[in-house]
Amino acid sequence: MTVPAESKTYLDLCQKIAELRSAFKTRYQKGIEILDEEIQKRVEENKPLLDIQDLKIEKKLLDEFSRDFLPLLEKHDVFSQEEIRIFLANKEKINLSKLVRSILSKDLHNLRSLSTQYQVGTDFFIFVGLNLSQAVLELCASELKQKVDQENWLKGNCPVCGSYPAIEKLRKDDGKRILRCGFCATEWHHKRIMCPFCGNEDHNSLRYFFIDEGSSTEKSAFRVDVCDKCKRYIKTIDERKLPQSEKPDLYLENLNTIYLDVLAQKDGYKSPTYWMVAPSEDLFV
Ligand SMILES: [Zn+2]
Ligand SMILES: [Zn+2]
Repeated sequence: MTVPAESKTYLDLCQKIAELRSAFKTRYQKGIEILDEEIQKRVEENKPLLDIQDLKIEKKLLDEFSRDFLPLLEKHDVFSQEEIRIFLANKEKINLSKLVRSILSKDLHNLRSLSTQYQVGTDFFIFVGLNLSQAVLELCASELKQKVDQENWLKGNCPVCGSYPAIEKLRKDDGKRILRCGFCATEWHHKRIMCPFCGNEDHNSLRYFFIDEGSSTEKSAFRVDVCDKCKRYIKTIDERKLPQSEKPDLYLENLNTIYLDVLAQKDGYKSPTYWMVAPSEDLFV
């Protein structure tokens, strides 16, 4: 079953999960076992704080999150009740920690074998694994991000978990370009004229487009930045073009602007994090 990423039910489900993640962060302090010395060493080496391929995630934490998260799936008509029932009945055997590891290490092979073994769509496993990963990594990042200089990291990948950004904004106060991680939600500053994916700084091959809807300034606050060198794109929200009081939630705006992904992809550009918006086997790269 393909995830209907543009449906209202799907958006509603994602919003509810986002609220759950946020409540989860206030309830728990630590999500992973990691030594301070290890973190310190990585800071000195100018590396992201976590090696997500090698995380030891507490099973208890995944169980706690899924206790509230899985019932949300039952309430929203995004996946079939049969898929959810099979998943719940085999949760222990499927092993949530292993599922999260498959997502973080992009192990499509394991996701496909789960799908064959349980007769549940690969997209379902991707969606569940992604949401569990995001919950745990956001929790870790809320504690760890004080240890990195988010204003001076300037790299294309996340200073906390090393992943690519899912979306970015031009900050209201100073117009600075702020990238947001698709996994752990950390935000960091990046150069204005530089592709976050390949490091290209040639302004002739970096450009952006937006949909001009005449009088609607709000629409033009949303644009797509593309790189003609690596043919990848990222969506950007120019906060300065939004009404003063409006503070966009980048996670939700990313889901709300799939029409821009469609346009960028039609022009031949790709996003390494689009699978997070529209979880699917074909996009999981
Ligand atoms: Zn991150
Ligand atoms: Zn590029």
